[in-house]
Amino acid sequence: MCGIIGITSLPNNLREPIGKVVRRCLERLEYRGYDSVGIAVIKGNSIEVRKGKGKIVEVNARLNFDEVSGTTAIGHTRWATHGKPSDENAHPHTDCTGSVAVVHNGIISNFLELKEELIRKGHVFKSETDTEVVAHLIEEYLRLGYKPFDAFKAALSRLKGAYAFVVAIAQEPNRLYFARNTSPLVIGIGNGANFVASDIPAFLEFTNMVIVLRDGEYGYIEPGKVYIEKDGVPVNVEERIRLISWTPEMASKEGYPHFMLKEIHEQPFAISSTLAGINEREFDNVVNLLLNSRRVLIIGLVRHTTQALSVITCSRQCLVSTYMR
Ligand code: GLU
Repeated sequence: MCGIIGITSLPNNLREPIGKVVRRCLERLEYRGYDSVGIAVIKGNSIEVRKGKGKIVEVNARLNFDEVSGTTAIGHTRWATHGKPSDENAHPHTDCTGSVAVVHNGIISNFLELKEELIRKGHVFKSETDTEVVAHLIEEYLRLGYKPFDAFKAALSRLKGAYAFVVAIAQEPNRLYFARNTSPLVIGIGNGANFVASDIPAFLEFTNMVIVLRDGEYGYIEPGKVYIEKDGVPVNVEERIRLISWTPEMASKEGYPHFMLKEIHEQPFAISSTLAGINEREFDNVVNLLLNSRRVLIIGLVRHTTQALSVITCSRQCLVSTYMR
């Protein structure tokens, strides 16, 4: 899990620097990940990125997100899957020119082959993450003369795995692109500002008009516009708007009375997102290893506990029940 947020606003609409607004939204997503944090703000023809290892409060004290002004920004709070927690691996990730910035929640399972292809074409990578390929892929299609939305769609069509993305492209300073496949993503429709985030509480202080995106949907937000498409066909945005009557506290539990109940109901998602991030060969290797083992001892589950147990449950029901007993 990671927390992602994108905001695009009319000038002077937010009443405080956009960096500060993004930082506050990220604090409400910190339950999703907290090993590093970063923001990117479109500034004229370029993008300013501030990011680093550590919790939001620590990194903000070092890098002062709160002072960064602008009208369009993205942010990320990370729980690493590819590449250790470090300043370089913190999101947002950028292309070679620094004019495409990406935040991502999920796993791109074919990133290695894409990375090799892009390196052969001359791209220079700065991190160990799977996410960075997305910025370079978009750059590659822009170089080929694609318009930004087409470049974004062309990049998406190359990706396998689980993802929710928000992408800023400097040449379109009032627009943010997004896409969802398995990882959660919601849009918030505000007054003179629109939002896209991993979870509703991130922007609930600004708006309770929400669209919960479905798998395969992608599009863009501008301060006064939300555009969603699926398989090239526009989605009727008006029909999808829901009014949320939850308080921020209730929203973080998505209507469930307790976090435990919410997490129990999230099990199918935890299993499918885990499986989406594993390629078939890796999965077969794990299953064969388990099948051919005389004894399996689970000695520690530090990260992604639910997912780890889910995979083992799928592969070999009896192993987990033996363990549980
Ligand atoms: N795979 C990305 C990374 O490691 C995103 C992590 C996540 O969503 O947990 O940086």
